[in-house]
Amino acid sequence: MTIPPIPRTAEGGVGARRLPSTGLLADRLDRPMRDLRISVTDRCNFRCGYCMPKTVFGRDYAFLDRDELLTFDEIERIARIAVAHGVRKLRLTGGEPLLRKGIEELVARLAALRTPEGDGPEIALTTNGSALPVKAAALREAGLDRVTVSLDSLDDALFQEINDVRFPVARVLDGIDAALSAGFPTVKLNMVVKRGLNDGEIVDMAARFKGTRCTLRFIEFMDVGTSNGWSLDAVVPSAEVVDRISAVFPLEPAEATAPGETAQRWRYRDGEGEIGVISSVTQAFCGTCNRARISTDGKLYTCLFADEGHDLRALLRGGADDEQLSAAMAGIWGARDDRYSEIRSSLTPELRAARQRIEMSYIGG
Ligand code: SAM
Ligand code: SF4
Ligand code: SF4
Repeated sequence: MTIPPIPRTAEGGVGARRLPSTGLLADRLDRPMRDLRISVTDRCNFRCGYCMPKTVFGRDYAFLDRDELLTFDEIERIARIAVAHGVRKLRLTGGEPLLRKGIEELVARLAALRTPEGDGPEIALTTNGSALPVKAAALREAGLDRVTVSLDSLDDALFQEINDVRFPVARVLDGIDAALSAGFPTVKLNMVVKRGLNDGEIVDMAARFKGTRCTLRFIEFMDVGTSNGWSLDAVVPSAEVVDRISAVFPLEPAEATAPGETAQRWRYRDGEGEIGVISSVTQAFCGTCNRARISTDGKLYTCLFADEGHDLRALLRGGADDEQLSAAMAGIWGARDDRYSEIRSSLTPELRAARQRIEMSYIGG
């Protein structure tokens, strides 16, 4: 099999760009690659309307075949090279990552990787929480550092309406408890806020998790993919979320803990913890975006809104050695200039519609 050519930068070199200050791999906007999100399955047992609406992801939807998925060996190899290039956080996602058979084994393999300084990269996982009651302890045991659970409402009827498969909220709350009991020091909770759907839940959610080991993060509804019927009217700006909570539980801004952090932190003035807001629509954070994504079938995407990925699986299965893979990844990152969220508002609806955006369940949230 012939090995596909290694991507080159516009300057024509097999373009590893490096930041002079740190020597880290850099893209064209001098952003390092620090965070790799790996989609381990494009399937999910939920059908959240903002992500995998039933009208599109119905019975006949053609999910990837088993042999199209990256194997654990392939994922581990890509992750090892990414870590050598400066990645310090590996996040398993999907689809629903806990549906991937043997996910604990993959966690253990990734947890055993070492950075050039001899540390392990941070291993994180984002889940809808449905399988956490049975899997939390094994995941922790395998070396998972952090878990993020998606939770859009505490109201059972509304929660079931959102997941659209009648999954009860109590089981997800059990999953969160299971994670805390398994030894995760904290659990992050992601709430996608959609106007007219669950924005009435903002303060209840804040009240429920204030002063607990769970940190709630409110995410602006994004125009990922082409199937979720996004419109700007349905976006609740983070500033409004902060105002609504602050009117009941006063908040003050807190400093970022890490460069490239997606969430802006706000702490309760009474010392009872904090919340985060992820303002991908109203306050884009492309300037510090250090995230790369691997789709379920092994394409490297340099932006959540990229219209195409770079086929690393073809390299892996075509017999590329580590040096070739490493050069390919460096070249792809070196050529990166994505900043979709910053330019979104300057695109006409026609231009936005013309972009061939990838579904989040495939590219990894
Ligand atoms: N199934 C897992 C889950 O729900 O946590 C992991 C994959 S999911 C695609 C990752 C994250 O993306 C979730 O927190 C989900 O709420 C978020 N998400 C999905 N579609 C979104 C959208 N249109 N706007 C904002 N966030 C979205
Ligand atoms: Fe599934 Fe997560 Fe998408 Fe909901 S957000 S449909 S749980 S992948
Ligand atoms: Fe990063 Fe693309 Fe999102 Fe901007 S739009 S923050 S470049 S993933």
